[in-house]
Amino acid sequence: GVNFKGLLRRNWLLIATVISVLLGISLGVVVREYASLSQLHKQYFGFPGEILMRMLKLVILPLIISSMITGVAALDSEVSGKIGLRAVIYYFSTTIIAVILGIILVMTIKPGVSQTADHIDRTGTTPNVTTVDTLLDLLRNMFPENLVQACFQQSANVVVRAASWPGLGELNESALCLLSWQNITKEYKIIGTYSDGINVLGLIVFCVAFGLVIGKMGEKGRILLEFFDALNEATMKLVQIIMCYMPVGILFLIAAKIIEVEDWEIFKKMGLYMVTVLSGLAIHATICLPLIFFVIVRKNPYTFTLGMAQALVTALMISSSSATLPVTFRCAEENNRIDKRITRFVLPVGATINMDGTALYEAVAAIFIAQLNDYALDVGQIVTISITATVASIGAAGVPNAGLVTMVIVLTAVGLPASDVTLIVAVDWLLDRFRTMINVLGDAYGAGIVQKLSKRELERMDLTSDVDVANP
Ligand code: ASP
Repeated sequence: GVNFKGLLRRNWLLIATVISVLLGISLGVVVREYASLSQLHKQYFGFPGEILMRMLKLVILPLIISSMITGVAALDSEVSGKIGLRAVIYYFSTTIIAVILGIILVMTIKPGVSQTADHIDRTGTTPNVTTVDTLLDLLRNMFPENLVQACFQQSANVVVRAASWPGLGELNESALCLLSWQNITKEYKIIGTYSDGINVLGLIVFCVAFGLVIGKMGEKGRILLEFFDALNEATMKLVQIIMCYMPVGILFLIAAKIIEVEDWEIFKKMGLYMVTVLSGLAIHATICLPLIFFVIVRKNPYTFTLGMAQALVTALMISSSSATLPVTFRCAEENNRIDKRITRFVLPVGATINMDGTALYEAVAAIFIAQLNDYALDVGQIVTISITATVASIGAAGVPNAGLVTMVIVLTAVGLPASDVTLIVAVDWLLDRFRTMINVLGDAYGAGIVQKLSKRELERMDLTSDVDVANP
């Protein structure tokens, strides 16, 4: 009927994306079964996917800068303070809920108890990193000393080569940037929250300050505001074009991944651990977050989730919250009708510091490793795990495998050998996808909730302001 056609027309991109995921998986399985590709050919095979990733990453910089500056400048400073505070309270409480949920599940299911860690080769050096170091690095990154450098910041130190820490060979380069190699002491040290060459956190802090200032500058400030608003609009137009290419990119991305994975046996061995993480993520996404949303917003949370579907599939396919950000914006604004003044302000921040999925995963993985080692944790240590898992999720950049790297903070805090992250590396590519999806969902719900809580301020502003830059 007519309805069906309309539905199809409105959701063609989502439908195409889902179909390409399925096609990609089948293609991957078939090629794996019947053709043995050389390393080089595998690389060619993944090429269309690589291009998609590059395009998505390309728009992150103009998107974050233009949306943060206009988002903040469109509000007056008192209102943006209130909205910011609400967002932070939401981020913090949902992250803690995710951590507690993870701890309860891993202590009940006990995925590591029947196994031992004997088969692990523990030749890696233990990285030496403390929670204080991490917090200091987080703060340091908030104040980049050079704005231009912050836009393409590689880790200031030498990137660790995969070979120097056995087991980390599976990590991709962006995550490896997080590690620095101190040559003299031969110790590894995690140095922070750099993401994919962009110090997102530092840029966000700068843009908030900049936006506040130009919001107060009157006529002269308006010129800048209009410039960044136009930049934002143009960037979102580019995003629209990129999204049309998305089904093609995703098809090859997932197919190439399936061809590339070498060890499928490991999934059997790690089955219970993966079930624990995945069920935790599922409960958080279908019960915890929707419940909070419903209590505050009084709307159907599952309709809201459906509105985010395109972003969720994207996150699942590319395992990066920051590269998903452009799609998150589109879904939140177009489908869920969240006010641009809210999305522009809270989504970039959320993608950087609000990671419920990562926090849950870190808590589960740490306790799983303790169980493997027959290491009894007392209450104090469990509290330590919840705090450090929260810090580690805030510190993790929105790039693939980042959570695995910051995992080291949690392990060292309770005296577990940090080199034991090597135990969970092999399955991380899969878990990473799912936790990224939950990270993105948490950000979106956050935007919906903050909008509802800030309704009065937004309405008051609509009445008083003459020109509304964010919503022309
Ligand atoms: N890949 C995740 C993200 O981008 C971070 C993580 O590794 O947990 O949100």
